[in-house]
Amino acid sequence: MSTADSCSEVHTKWMLEALAMAEDALEAGEVPVGCVFVRHDVIIAKARNRTNELRNATRHAELEAIDCILADKLLTPQLVQYPLSETTLYVTVEPCIMCASALRQLGIKEVYYGCQNDRFGGCGSVLGVSSGLKHPKHPGYLAADGYLREEAIMMLRRFYITENTNAPVPRSKANRVLKTEILPVSGTKPGNVIS
Ligand SMILES: [Zn+2]
Repeated sequence: MSTADSCSEVHTKWMLEALAMAEDALEAGEVPVGCVFVRHDVIIAKARNRTNELRNATRHAELEAIDCILADKLLTPQLVQYPLSETTLYVTVEPCIMCASALRQLGIKEVYYGCQNDRFGGCGSVLGVSSGLKHPKHPGYLAADGYLREEAIMMLRRFYITENTNAPVPRSKANRVLKTEILPVSGTKPGNVIS
């Protein structure tokens, strides 16, 4: 097995953990996005979206986990400029602009994600907050997509086919059917680096 293959296997292993968190979100009626933060081959935090539960649009999976990491004195013994410099994020959907920016300010080592976030993506889909955009102070980070992409997309579709009763004006989706066809992104294969 090549080094690239074994790397990809490791990424898939962690992404399955992130996907389990997304499933948890789905069961709780949240937009199903889940993540795990890995440091030195160990998961140090896992979280999922809690925006509906907390009625707070900033409670994305990534920020939920980051809050735990920063508040834990064992995981973050002292405040340093880049507390996540040894930490890799696995998240089912491309981090949004807000989360991508927080990750850059905290010096995340690398980010691997499942599918692109066409509406809010901060790792290249809408804005290249991860590395494409220049910043006077914070260096960019690697963000690679395509890990369990189809699973992440199907998870989102399973959510959006049901009625979101938390939406300000719930829309009837009685006639919707679950689409299973997934179109490839041009040139996409796991490890695509988006900037
Ligand atoms: Zn976000």
